[in-house]
Amino acid sequence: MTDTSATTVQTPARPVPKPGVMGIAPYVPGKSKAANGKTLHKLSSNETPLGASEAARKAVANVAGHLELYPDGSASELRAAIGEVYGINPDRIICGAGSDEILSLLAYAYLGQGDEAIYSQHGFLVYDIAIRAAGATPVVAPETDLTADVDAILSRVTNRTKLVFLANPNNPTGTYLPFSEVRRLHAGLPPNVLLVLDAAYGEYVRRNDYESGLELAATADNVVMTRTFSKIYGLANLRLGWGFGPAHIIDALNRIRGPFNVSGAAIAAGIAAVRDRAFVDAAVAHNDTWLPWVTVELEKIGLSVTPSVGNFILIHFPDEDGKRATDADTYLSGQGCVLRLVGNYGLPNAIRMSIGTEAANRKVVSALAAFMTK
Ligand SMILES: *Cc1c(COP(=O)(O)O)cnc(C)c1O
Repeated sequence: MTDTSATTVQTPARPVPKPGVMGIAPYVPGKSKAANGKTLHKLSSNETPLGASEAARKAVANVAGHLELYPDGSASELRAAIGEVYGINPDRIICGAGSDEILSLLAYAYLGQGDEAIYSQHGFLVYDIAIRAAGATPVVAPETDLTADVDAILSRVTNRTKLVFLANPNNPTGTYLPFSEVRRLHAGLPPNVLLVLDAAYGEYVRRNDYESGLELAATADNVVMTRTFSKIYGLANLRLGWGFGPAHIIDALNRIRGPFNVSGAAIAAGIAAVRDRAFVDAAVAHNDTWLPWVTVELEKIGLSVTPSVGNFILIHFPDEDGKRATDADTYLSGQGCVLRLVGNYGLPNAIRMSIGTEAANRKVVSALAAFMTK
């Protein structure tokens, strides 16, 4: 036997994950079923109430005849279609199994132990998971009025900072930063810090001072914009998202992604969906009608709602026995309406509601009116 006395480090009795992994709080997805099992309206994950484009559904049906074949690993036809619709260079696009995969790839490629990455106080929790999974340290910047605060983010940059995640608009608050603020953030970051602009809800925003980050990602060396097919395109079940950025970053991501990370069904559906602009316009029009309607109706019954530019709203409840967010959630669930508690986002007395069909929106408003007066 060889002498092992020089290496008497205790060998663990079983495999141990690398540092950071066991510090991750598992992501809690929106519930899909009401307490009594009778779900009338699922409004818990910001899915569209309009389903998917007919063209996308047909495209998936066609793929069903060839399930034995590997998909195109570079999703070139899909990247070409996205490039055409958004007016960007397809060589600088990467597709992923949801934009969550792109966010993770960015963290794995640019973060390691000893590095820091910043996100804002009520920012999307996938960032925290991606940062820790990469072995790095999350740094949380406080928000002002439930909105990302550029100065708070910039003041937390150190020489260990490698990445900043910003959801614009943000989930679950529905608030956004005007593009002048995003530019100010970018201008204040050292050139080696990667700025990730997550525009999952970009298509819904109707504000003159909003930009998704397309142009910044086209021109800056340290900006990536991510988008998803899960929200306005109605393809959440297929898992499809994309990122757009400088060639050197897309090159790095392509080296670490799985060779066939996007399925053929997702590619086919994505090509059809991105070209169906009438479908997207209808989804925007639906949201433009119902987002303000739900907001105003809930305010009428005495609830406060954070002004949202996305396809969801954050509803705040009174700090009063029997009237808190958890009470409302239980009550709504009993009425078949599944919304989203957001205590894990540091918002213990709020509920997030996705804008649904007309019937769903009316049902939630009438149920909450009854809840508030009971
Ligand atoms: C829903 C959402 C995503 C999209 O996730 P997918 O993995 O593409 O389904 C990304 N960012 C934010 C802020 C979201 O709310």
